[in-house]
Amino acid sequence: MSASDWLAQLPGVLRDEPLARHSQFGVGGPADWFAKVRDTEAMQGVLRGCAEHSVPLTTIGAGSNALILDGGIRGLVVRFDDSRVRVRGDDSVELGAGAMMPRAALDCARQGLAGLEFGIGVPGTCGASVYGNAGAFGTEMADVLIDGTVVSPAGDAQVLTAAECGFHYRRSRLQDGLRGHVVASARLRVHAGDPAEVRRRTDEIQAQRKASQPYGVRSLGSVFKNPPGDSAGRLVEACGLKGRRHGGAEIAPKHANFILNVAHATAADVLELARVAHDAVLRQFGVDLEREIVILGEPAARSRVPVSG
Ligand SMILES: Cc1cc2nc3c(=O)[nH]c(=O)nc-3n(C[C@H](O)[C@H](O)[C@H](O)COP(=O)(O)OP(=O)(O)OC[C@H]3O[C@@H](n4cnc5c(N)ncnc54)[C@H](O)[C@@H]3O)c2cc1C
Repeated sequence: MSASDWLAQLPGVLRDEPLARHSQFGVGGPADWFAKVRDTEAMQGVLRGCAEHSVPLTTIGAGSNALILDGGIRGLVVRFDDSRVRVRGDDSVELGAGAMMPRAALDCARQGLAGLEFGIGVPGTCGASVYGNAGAFGTEMADVLIDGTVVSPAGDAQVLTAAECGFHYRRSRLQDGLRGHVVASARLRVHAGDPAEVRRRTDEIQAQRKASQPYGVRSLGSVFKNPPGDSAGRLVEACGLKGRRHGGAEIAPKHANFILNVAHATAADVLELARVAHDAVLRQFGVDLEREIVILGEPAARSRVPVSG
């Protein structure tokens, strides 16, 4: 069977699918092929098929951290559809990789399970949050992950402990040594608490987030990682860049480390603003900010892609 024949028979597969439709940020060119994958077994089949037919595979989550470039993504793009949140006794919950972290936080709060309150501040999927060691308000995935099931590029499922994930600030081995592995599910540590108290802490984090970050608008979260002992937002703000616009993108007036899609922004608009902020901070403070957002795909033909971070 040819690669195209194999791709065409995947359940629900779409051709030339605009990825802006599948990203919270609302930006991104087309995937050659796009499919939602329902469970670990199906993901194993997809990875085996990609290996056999030499099809490049990209996994996306909710698109709350990944900037998909305007030329789109070649090969097959998948989104893991398993969004189950299963409580396992009173000391762990198991999340499908497609489960949204805020929903997991609220489900746990409802059942008086403490430990995942920070998830209310991470508007992405569990799988991507393991990949990027997402965290908020003092807790990150590294603190709560017991283990996770990942599928290798050869299609084999294996369980990784938190130590084996090699977590650092917004990093895991899935970004380098285990590149190409797809997170299928994760077991997270929780503990029994008073439901009203867990809900109070969850609401408090949500309120702090709404007070300090742009809310209800399209963004990718923090564009740059915080440099040691400082905040990227403070540095970009000190360069006078709050509210700076390029095309349909804007450096958030509320928090200078967020870039908003305010008017049908292109990925090139966002990259240009990120470059302006990066270069201004380097010039003014000598700090070489490292990008936190992930860039996927390729630029539109003839567009210039500045490199920053
Ligand atoms: C308003 C706002 C606030 C935010 N606040 C925070 C915050 O406080 N802390 C924080 O850490 N982040 C924050 N973020 C960023 C974002 O929510 C997290 O990085 C989240 O973990 C990304 O999830 P996603 O599903 O949207 O991933 P995507 O953006 O879709 O993908 C991110 C990366 O993960 C990879 N990936 C996706 N799924 C899988 C999988 N199953 N297996 C392996 N790799 C996978 C993708 O290939 C990509 O490289 C914020 C974002 C927004 C918009």
